[in-house]
Amino acid sequence: MAGKVILKKQAEKRLRWSHPWIFAGEIAKEQVQEGPGAIVDVLNSAGKFWGRGYWNPQSQIRVRLLTRKEEPVDEGFFFQRLRQCWHYRQQIGYTENCRLVFAEADQLPGLIVDKFGDYLVLQTLALGMDRWKPAIVHALEQLLQPAGIYERNDAPVRELEGLPLTKGFLSKPFPTTFQIRENNLRFWVDVANGQKTGYFLDQRLNRLAIAPFVRDAEILEAFCYTGSFTCHAAAFGAKHITAIDASADALQLAQQNAELNGVSPSCTFLEANAFDVLKQWAGEKRSFDVVMLDPPAFAKSRQQIQSAITGYKEINLRALKMIRPGGFLITSSCTNLVPAPLFLEIIQQAAADARRQIRQVLFHTQPPDHPIVWTIESTAYLKFLIVQVQ
Ligand code: SAH
Repeated sequence: MAGKVILKKQAEKRLRWSHPWIFAGEIAKEQVQEGPGAIVDVLNSAGKFWGRGYWNPQSQIRVRLLTRKEEPVDEGFFFQRLRQCWHYRQQIGYTENCRLVFAEADQLPGLIVDKFGDYLVLQTLALGMDRWKPAIVHALEQLLQPAGIYERNDAPVRELEGLPLTKGFLSKPFPTTFQIRENNLRFWVDVANGQKTGYFLDQRLNRLAIAPFVRDAEILEAFCYTGSFTCHAAAFGAKHITAIDASADALQLAQQNAELNGVSPSCTFLEANAFDVLKQWAGEKRSFDVVMLDPPAFAKSRQQIQSAITGYKEINLRALKMIRPGGFLITSSCTNLVPAPLFLEIIQQAAADARRQIRQVLFHTQPPDHPIVWTIESTAYLKFLIVQVQ
């Protein structure tokens, strides 16, 4: 072992609930011989083995535990963990496209791997995990024989770990824009330049769930990205969808996705700031049968929670004002710092301010390839709500 870290007594209570992060302030003493990213043993205040994980003195999250057992952390360890990840996705039938590794929820802190058909897209978001990238790539090649692996390590959270932002091939090069299938539709995915890993797999079941609410509807969708909800709505018989996004690149793919699925006659894509459009159109008293909202995360730190609440309230309030009586608001939040009860309260307040009565008709979270560990709050992030509006 490259060293040891001894916990303060107070830290043990929180950690007992099997949270894998140990913050700088929870450590009484550190004796580490190697540099950042080293594997260390964590001991409790009585000097007893607590767990083993990687250490980063540059991060507030000083240790991320990989195991509570006294087992070697080596290439074989990562191979076994990744094998369990793949086994579970096979078990639940999420094999074609899936989140193959969901970080802390798969006991691989800081590692995300999305599978899109024969290709894998990987993010190592913590320094300790980044050091194991060659072993991870090797294990993924052994387990899945992918046609290619791409790293999207341009995520800004890496800077908190002292890691550079980078992206590129971890296998031989391949065309990074390709098609995937989802729910009998087809979508272009751009894994090199799209957002995050290129496509949001977490809304797969929720896109299916809109079917009963969109038939013959006139729909406004804000934050449409590459048009996945739009194409689903059109395929489910919506009359027309006006879909807005601020990204011209996303909208170009959205247009191509509508064409690919033969639904472009019922879709109009608009490049604009959704906040501005919602404000203006609500002011003009425009109306729709259904409004769909799926904005990016509004808070990345606790300091931003209040502005996230304000943001969610504003867009949902304006959307509610535009929905015809009997219509539906389909609204999402992917901010893990806004937990489900708070999100529902924001929607209720928005409805009260809009002077509209609502009733919940459906509430979902993440699909089973994004499992939630109740003791690790950050693993529960997606809220997907449909309310009927009177
Ligand atoms: N619903 C999409 C995912 C949306 S991701 C899907 O199912 O795939 C959030 C999207 O919001 C991104 O495409 C981003 O470009 C867009 N976005 C961010 N801020 C915006 C703004 N102010 N106005 C419009 N779009 C915005």
